[in-house]
Amino acid sequence: TEPVLEIRGLDVDYGLGDSAVRAVRDINLTLHRGEILGLAGESGSGKSTLAYAVTRLLPPPGVITGGEVRYRPGNGTPAVDILDLGPEELRAFRWQEISLVFQGAMNSLNPVHTVRSQLTDVIAAHRPAMGRAARNDRAAELLSLVGISADRLGSYPHQLSGGMRQRVMIAMALALEPEIVLLDEPTTALDVVMQRQILRQLVRLREELGFSVVFITHDISLLLEFSDRVAVMYGGRIVEEAGAKEIYRDARHPYSHGLLHSFPALHGPRRELTGIPGSPPDLKSMPSGCAFHPRCPKAFDPCASRVPALTPAPAGDRSVACWLHTEHGSGDS
Ligand code: ATP
Ligand code: SF4
Ligand code: MG
Repeated sequence: TEPVLEIRGLDVDYGLGDSAVRAVRDINLTLHRGEILGLAGESGSGKSTLAYAVTRLLPPPGVITGGEVRYRPGNGTPAVDILDLGPEELRAFRWQEISLVFQGAMNSLNPVHTVRSQLTDVIAAHRPAMGRAARNDRAAELLSLVGISADRLGSYPHQLSGGMRQRVMIAMALALEPEIVLLDEPTTALDVVMQRQILRQLVRLREELGFSVVFITHDISLLLEFSDRVAVMYGGRIVEEAGAKEIYRDARHPYSHGLLHSFPALHGPRRELTGIPGSPPDLKSMPSGCAFHPRCPKAFDPCASRVPALTPAPAGDRSVACWLHTEHGSGDS
């Protein structure tokens, strides 16, 4: 299917000059229309930074220092580079074209406003011509989309369970029928049964409404279950990208392999809990070459001196950034 978002060469720093933290480096990633793309990686690998940069919600001192984020709305409308949008354009763009449910969002509902008023505020801000009654109807419809009865419209956040508050946030993100929804750890605070229930609902809605999703989670089994494709980040870079089934069966980057196999399998034969020894890199002084080399059980000649580029596999729709899978020439010893 066609791309809806194309991220090319994206770099993000926190701070300026020598003290800058290089949080995201040279990201190349394509989101296709209607797909669920899962982002995996240890804490600090840059997943949230990438999501914030793409929606232009990066908090200071975050700065996008290079790259492009091309958004293709379809229906013949020309592509735009999100990084070129001015403040007015961005206001129209957010919620309407792309929305973000950020980490811990369920605690960001306004405690003194009802669910109804928080949903209708989002609608009113972007659909000024819509009358009050129509906005209320739409709010009720949105709640039922996420499996909450419309009699909850008058509730205040504290009167709802955590799972319901999270679903209200998802309803808000869907309020203006955006093309893309970014979900940063949308269900982490909830129990596993509730997490699955919410994600199943989201998959159903995606089939009905046709939006695309970027889904960030630490829970590898949820990630593999609900994503069509998976991208793995390490030290601010994407190190591997492939279909969810392919990467589970045959992870090619040693880091993806460690990450995807360091949890007990839910289905099929039990896998060993290998884990990954060592700790994530210090972004202020990244290891030379492949940033994973100090932890990599397979490191060899070129790894400590040259950064492997994310390279498409000769066959199949997948890429990997690892010298084991890329021509590395000679003369590096
Ligand atoms: P987690 O899984 O814990 O949510 P993440 O993959 O989302 O992690 P980010 O939050 O994107 O990681 O952080 C990437 C890097 O940027 C981390 O090293 C973090 O310390 C750094 N960072 C994030 N926010 C800031 C900030 N406001 N100022 C300085 N550094 C920051
Ligand atoms: Fe390991 Fe080298 Fe591949 Fe990096 S490039 S993951 S160090 S084998
Ligand atoms: Mg994060």
